[in-house]
Order: sequence, then C-alpha cells, then structure tokens
Amino acid sequence: MTSLTLIISFIFGTIIGSFLNVIIYRINTNLSISRGRSKCFSCNRGLEPKDLVPVFSYLFFKGRCRTCKSKISMQYPLVEVLTGVMFTLITYFYFFDGAVFIGNNIFNGGLVLQGLTQTPFIKYLFYAFDLTTLSILIAIFVYDFKHKIIPDKLVYTGALIMFVKAVIGIFIFKLTDLEAALILLAGPLVALPFALFWLVSGGRWMGLGDAKLALIVGWGLGISYGFTALMYSFWIGTIVIIGLSLVREMLQAFSTRNNALGLRIKFLQNQKMKYFTSKIPSYKLRSEIPFGPFIIVAFYMIYFVGRNLLWWL
Ligand SMILES: [Zn+2]
Repeated sequence: MTSLTLIISFIFGTIIGSFLNVIIYRINTNLSISRGRSKCFSCNRGLEPKDLVPVFSYLFFKGRCRTCKSKISMQYPLVEVLTGVMFTLITYFYFFDGAVFIGNNIFNGGLVLQGLTQTPFIKYLFYAFDLTTLSILIAIFVYDFKHKIIPDKLVYTGALIMFVKAVIGIFIFKLTDLEAALILLAGPLVALPFALFWLVSGGRWMGLGDAKLALIVGWGLGISYGFTALMYSFWIGTIVIIGLSLVREMLQAFSTRNNALGLRIKFLQNQKMKYFTSKIPSYKLRSEIPFGPFIIVAFYMIYFVGRNLLWWL
C-alpha cells in the first residue's frame, strides 16, 4: 500500500512537472497556458501523446524530436523528475512519517500532527496547498534561473495559498491572539530584509521578486523557521557562487598555463575545456545572480528537516 501510493504520487508529480514546463515556457508571453498544442521549436510539428509522456518520451526518443531530430532541452525531463520526487517526499511526510514534521511547520510540530489526525479534511487540504505551492516554487525556480525574474502571478498565488493555510491553522489549532499575530506577521517580517536590500541597493543586490518570494517562506514556516531559512539561503548562495567561480578560475588557469608552457594539448581537448568553462555561469554583478533558487532550496531544507539540520552540520 505504502509503495503503491508513493509510486502513484511520483507519476502524478511527473505529469504536473510536464505541465509546469508549459507554464515556464508560456508565462509572460501572449500564449495561453491551457489552449494551443505544444509544438517542436525547430520543425513546428504538433506534439502527439506519445511525445508527451513525462520522462519516458525523452528517454525513448533519446532527447530528440522524432521528426527533425533536433535536441530537446534537458530542462523538460529534469523538471518532470524533480516534481515527481518532491511530490513523493511530501506525500511520504504527510501520510507515512508524520514524526518528521516536528519542527518544520508554522505551528508546533506535535500539535500539527495531533490536530491534523483529528481533522482529516484539513490534513488533505494542507496537503493540497503544499503540493500546489511546491509546483509554483518549482516553476519560479526554473524561471528565475533562466530569466532572472520572478513572475508576479506565480509568487503572489503561492503567497496567498500559504497565507490562507496560516489563517486556517490559527482557527484549527485555536491559537492565542499573540501566536496568531506572530504567524500573520511572519510573511512581511521575513520579506523585510530582502525588501531593504532591494531598496538600499536600488535593485542591484536583490530584486523585489525575492522579497515577494520571502512572503511564502514567512507564512509557510513562521517567523523563527522563516528567518532560519533566510539565513540558509544566504549561506547556500555564498557557497554556490564561490564554488562556481573557483571551478571557473581553475579551468581558465589550467588552459592558459598549458598554452603558456607550450604543452601539446590536443586541439579538441582544448576546445572541450573552453566549452565547459563557457558553460559555467560567471556572475560579475550581484544583480546577475538569480537569488530565488537559493531561497527555495532553503525553504525546503527547513520544511523537511527543520532545525534538526543544524545538528547535522
Ligand atoms: Zn522537430
């Protein structure tokens, strides 16, 4: 029963993932998200059902269009698999290992578990809220990574869902006025540092979209976990950026040193090195760094593991 449920949630996730690919492609364009068939970008052939099976179509046709054999972006299967895996994890945590929930929710973990078991409808509602928010965050992750912009439609929908979840939780768990106020303020408070960065730097350090994204973090995790997530996002960002520039420096140093010493490197090898170096994003200005992905990764680190993560480090 357990494994069947998890397999079904994985498959369901990959289907949602393939829909997210459509949203990522069509949002902020004039194309309708629900209407119009997907086409091959190269030969314009309308895609048939057998081209659209999540993950399998990509593997089966070896990542190429069936007609014109042009390459299909890795983004498609990656988003499908990622969504499938995350759906499975959330299903697992909601229905099979609730204990893990302790310490990662806006409400006291034990209370959530008890309260949600007593009110199965709310449990399913929260589950649906969390899956929807996850889907939105995956779309934001990829969109911000590609275009360095966080679409308003997506981020506001996510923030609204987490806000409604917080309000319902306040009533379900009969929180005191103070607790309720802290939960409602969590969104704006966690967003505040990002908004200040945006204001002070005139948008160079941080986009306003990052502040809007922090609303989801605040209402989704509460003040204290929200701020922990915020701190994690800066750590992750720093580690990734330093890591990327180190690898880049090393590759560059290696290829120039070899040229300077007149070492005979096969032409092809050298070209390959240049290709890999060019593939590593170089961020000269802070404004070029899409920060949204770091916030989202930090959000789910806290969501799944809570502060227990600190004990591991
Ligand atoms: Zn084609």
